[in-house]
Amino acid sequence: PSLEIIALILTLIHFGIPLAYYVYLKKKWLPKPWNLKINPKYTPRITVIVPTYNEAKLIIEKLNNIYMQDYPKDKLEVLVVDSASTDGTPRLVEDWARKHTNFRVMLVKEPSRRGMAHALWTGFKHAKGDIIIVTDADAIWTKHDILREIVKWLSCEDVGAISCIKEPLGGESLEYKYRQYYNILRIAESKAWSTPIFHGELSAFKKKLLKRIGGFPLGVGSAESLAAMKIAALGYRAIISDNVVVQEIIPRREYTKWRIRRAQHLIIHLIKTLSYIRNYNNMLKVIVLVEAYLHIINPWILLLCTIVLLYCTLILHSILAGSLIILGLALLAQRAYHAWIISQLFLLLAQIKNLWNKE
Ligand code: GDP
Ligand code: MN
Repeated sequence: PSLEIIALILTLIHFGIPLAYYVYLKKKWLPKPWNLKINPKYTPRITVIVPTYNEAKLIIEKLNNIYMQDYPKDKLEVLVVDSASTDGTPRLVEDWARKHTNFRVMLVKEPSRRGMAHALWTGFKHAKGDIIIVTDADAIWTKHDILREIVKWLSCEDVGAISCIKEPLGGESLEYKYRQYYNILRIAESKAWSTPIFHGELSAFKKKLLKRIGGFPLGVGSAESLAAMKIAALGYRAIISDNVVVQEIIPRREYTKWRIRRAQHLIIHLIKTLSYIRNYNNMLKVIVLVEAYLHIINPWILLLCTIVLLYCTLILHSILAGSLIILGLALLAQRAYHAWIISQLFLLLAQIKNLWNKE
């Protein structure tokens, strides 16, 4: 019987902590005003860095999408950093640039593929803007005033970096449930102080702060998130605002592989971020600790309580444990719960994979 109690406690911890965190942020912080002093006249020079590796299918639409933005053309430059694509991406960029002479588009070619972080690092060296924005080739900025919106937030002295919330486009419906939960966390954490998780679909930084941290960090899968947290360690805020929204095309093929790779990057990022924690204020300390707990430890608690429950059911013939297992399985019909369980599996697989392949 005491084993059953342990399983019950583990279940409560696994579901209780994320739920309590969610409710706390949603009730206490989400409704709060931003309390930031905005300067509407601020119109800095912007460099948009687009790292590409074999993006021939998307790059033209991506350049058009940036071109359509409502921002003074003479204050905007685009840097496509291509890492030896083999599908003709660089040529498409050059052709596009020739047809749009009123717009600064530069192509930087890396001689070999060294990953997205390295491409951002290279892009940073060439960037002339006061604000550096990084964005994936497959991310579409549906709103045309998004740059103005970004600049508005960055006009505040306290804000060092800003990223977007994501609207999934196509693909698995699981992704939608997952996003609803996480978008609320990101915004509420940002209002509380800062959020440790940025998105490659759009992340913007003050150049002078990127310089102070030595440019984009190398050797990580989510350089934009780590850059934001290094800037937060200097005392600046790294936020995600609810009116900066980017659509992301969700891959239909290899969705599982994609999610696991992202989880791998996120876990490595959170572990690195823990090493800056002494520089954070108390609020951000709590946020980083809870996020690290949720992504790294909490999934193991689910696994552990499942094992204990199975042991109680199969070996000790416990009715209570058996009922809990059946309840846990029946609840899979509920979409939010289903999405949660799957994401816990992805996090577990990601940690196991990180042991030998950090990709
Ligand atoms: P995901 O968003 O995590 O699925 O990653 P993506 O595959 O969309 O990659 C993000 C962006 O980085 C895309 O624009 C890719 O083309 C680009 N990218 C990925 N690997 C490399 C690389 O090695 N070099 C460069 N320059 N860009 C890369
Ligand atoms: Mn992408």
